[in-house]
Order: sequence, then C-alpha cells, then structure tokens
Amino acid sequence: MPASPPVVHPEPRGGLIAVVDPATGEAFDEAPDQQSGELDAVVERAHAAWRGWRADPAARTAALLAAADAVEAAESVLAPLLTREQGKPVAESYAEVARTAARLRYFAELGPEPQRITDGRPVRGEIRWRSLGPVAGIVPWNFPLQLASAKFAPALAAGNTMVLKPSPFTPLATRLLGSIIAGVLPEDVLTVVTGREPLGARLASHPGIRHVTFTGSVPTGRAVAESAAASLARVTLELGGNDAAILLEDVDVERIADRLFWAAFRNCGQVCMAVKRVYAPARLHSRVVEALADRAKTTVVGAGLDPATQLGPVNNGAQLARVERYTAQALADGARAAAGGHRLDRPGYFFAPTILADVSTDSPVVKEEQFGPVLPVLPYESLDEAVEAANGTGFGLGGSVWATDLDRAEAVADRLECGTAWINHHAELSLAQPFAGIKESGVGVAGGPWGLYGNLRPFVVHRPEEIT
Ligand code: NAD
Repeated sequence: MPASPPVVHPEPRGGLIAVVDPATGEAFDEAPDQQSGELDAVVERAHAAWRGWRADPAARTAALLAAADAVEAAESVLAPLLTREQGKPVAESYAEVARTAARLRYFAELGPEPQRITDGRPVRGEIRWRSLGPVAGIVPWNFPLQLASAKFAPALAAGNTMVLKPSPFTPLATRLLGSIIAGVLPEDVLTVVTGREPLGARLASHPGIRHVTFTGSVPTGRAVAESAAASLARVTLELGGNDAAILLEDVDVERIADRLFWAAFRNCGQVCMAVKRVYAPARLHSRVVEALADRAKTTVVGAGLDPATQLGPVNNGAQLARVERYTAQALADGARAAAGGHRLDRPGYFFAPTILADVSTDSPVVKEEQFGPVLPVLPYESLDEAVEAANGTGFGLGGSVWATDLDRAEAVADRLECGTAWINHHAELSLAQPFAGIKESGVGVAGGPWGLYGNLRPFVVHRPEEIT
C-alpha cells in the first residue's frame, strides 16, 4: 500500500488560506483568511441592510428571481471552479449550480401568509410572520453551493439578511457565488466571509446574529449550539448520517445494483444521506457483494474536470486519512475487500471504491460515518434483526428499503427511525419536502415551507370582533 499522503489543511499565508485541488494535492489558489474582529462590522452592515430588505416582499421576490438567473448564467465559471476545489465530477458541479438556482426560485415564490387563528372566543387573532434579523449560515465542503443555498434561499426569502461562511477547504466557488448574487441584491443582504477557525465559532456566538443555521458534523454541531447559547440565537443543525439500506428477500439484485451503488458512491460517498451500510438477506449476501464490487471495479476514478470521470477524489487529506483508517481497521479485524480497500498510488486524494464483506457489526465503518467511497455489506437472518441494526446507531438522517413488493417495502420503511425513508432509491429530495434528521443527525427542520418558517417568528395581533 502506498505511504499516506501529507494531510494538507488550509494554511494561512499572509492573511490568505491556500486552496488545494484534491485531484493533485497541490494548492492552486487562495482565499482571505478573515479574522473574527472583522465580524462586528459585517454583522452591523447586515443588520442595517435588513431594515430595507424585510420591508418589501414583492421586491424581494423579484430580486431573488434575478439572483437565480444570474447564478444560472454563471454556471460555466462556477461549476469548473467548484470541481477544482471540491473534486466532484464536473457534471455534478453543473447539477449543483442548477439546484442552487432552483432553490432560489422555489423560495422566492414562497412568501409567508398571515394566518387567522381562533379558539371559538369572540377574539380575532392573526399571525403576521416576521423576519428575525441577520442569520449566520455555516456550511461544509461536500456540497458548498447547494448547502449554502439551502441556508440563504429560505433565510433571505423570509426577509432576513445573511452572513455565510463556507468551509476553508472550499471557499472559492462560494465567494464567487456571493459576488454574483451581491451584484443583484441590495448591498449587504448576503455577505460571504472566509477563514479558518475560530471564525465560525465567533460568527455563531455573535450577539447580532439571531439564527445560526449550520450543516456539518455532529461534534461541530455541538460546538455551534454551545456558541449560539451565548446570545440565545435560534439554532438549526443539519448533521451527519449513517443511513442504512435494507434489501428484502424479493429484491431484484441486478435491477437495483446501479442505483444502490451510486446512492453510496455519488460525490465519492461524501454525502450526509448517502447509503453508508447495506443489509442484505444472508441468502443474497454474496450476490449483492458481487454486484456492487463489479460496479466498484469498473467505475472510472479520476480528476473531476476530466469528462470521463465518474468518481473524483476525496476532498481533503484529513478526510482521506479517516477513510483509510476506518478501512484498515475493518480489514485488520477480518473484513474482506471485495473491491478496492486502499488508496490509489497517484497524486491527489484518491481512494479506490471499496466494497467490504465479513465486517464486524461493531466496526467503526459500520457504527460511525465513514463519509468516503467505502461501503460495508452486512448479512441478516431476520428482518427484525436488520431493522434493529439499521436503527441502532446514534444517527437518524435517512434510510431505504429495496424490494419488488412495494407495499411490503413501505411497511418496513415505516419502522425506520430517521427523517426520510426511501423505497428503491435513496437521497433524492424534493425542494418542497421537510428535511429533518433525528437523534444526533439534527435539530430543526429545513426544506419546503418548514425551512421558510424556520427563519421567521410569529407575531400575533389579538383584537376583539367588536368594540368592547
Ligand atoms: P465540519 O463540521 O468539520 O465543518 C462544517 C463547517 O463548520 C465548516 O464551515 C467549518 O469551517 C465550520 N466550523 C468548524 N469548527 C467550527 C466551530 N467550532 N464553530 C462554528 N463553525 C465551525 O464538517 P465537514 O467536515 O466540513 O463536513 C462533513 C460533515 O457534514 C459530515 O458529518 C456530514 O454528514 C455533514 N453534512 C450534513 C448534512 C446534512 O444536511 N445533515 C449535509 C452535508 C454534510
């Protein structure tokens, strides 16, 4: 096995952070390493911009629709830059830009409506939804633009302003996106800040921030909740996942194998709601392993900018080291790599797509979130045992059931303890659906009208029906 590559963290260089291309392991550009002291002025300006932005819903809708058009028009610059810093195949980057524009359009049209409330008494109550103020959006490196838009589209549509902080591993496409959108929206409605910690922690604890909406890992989510406790700002946390896919006895293995494989390996497995464990009936286990391993062995791994590439590199050295560690431990404990099992001997952060069989159920690759191109396939004897195992981690983001009898599959899906359960596919989300992990996978609800109302507060006016 090749020696481990050096773990390259974004390094400060005279007020800048180096941005590394994961396909080469080399720095190719820089972004500002902003200091926490700059946040006071940024948040103050976001607060001043809020007054005008919240006042005119029709102007807001028009501005957000124009922002969607501007994002779409810039896809040919945004998508390759995203691939360069993140690693994913460029077609997926184009899809991410398109999703960002679509989300802006969806929320632009989704204004909050006043609501009448009554409990039978001769008093008329009306809820008039009010914005909160400056919102902090903090996002990870796996879907920098798409996850940023999941923060700013509902927050801005609700009449708030936003200070957005991308991961220091992927600051460039978000900065560009921020400047494209800033060219269309009023000044300081959306501000992108970039830099290393403690920038995020300071942003989350800033007294001028009224809602912290965070996507990232469970430990950082805990730290964010602690930071936000300082100002008692509202907190929305979208955290990690360890989604299980349960295959039922009647599943048509060949028919579902491609879909199941890509549900685990898209974006190199760096998807919060990727399939991270497969449970197959013992009778079918070796066929499932073989079908997935066949696909792993024929997947084209390479630089995301090469149009032939199906699977890019892992985003950064620390993440590659984690994937390598989890895999090595599973193999040392007796697992068998039916495909892959090792890093690729080439520059950059490449790991061979890996299918693991004979994995101990206690292995970290089963119990924790590997967040990389490694998939354990576990056999089960009884369905109860599979459901119990699927539900038996601290996570509760998503899960799926794969079968020919859809009613039976749905009955099993209903037993999954998570926010979203899919049948015969995985990780497909509608912009209009609520997205909410349970247990350690999250706090609060994103997506659809729930995402909008998560950025609003109810203001209630009571009046009698008649003069008293
Ligand atoms: P991370 O938690 O390390 O970082 C996320 C963001 O938080 C980054 O911008 C980072 O710079 C910032 N940050 C780091 N320390 C901070 C602190 N103390 N206070 C405030 N901000 C801080 O996550 P990551 O490694 O960038 O991303 C991978 C994780 O994200 C995985 O666990 C994945 O499952 C999760 N994720 C969840 C969802 C979801 O919707 N549930 C979606 C995508 C990714």
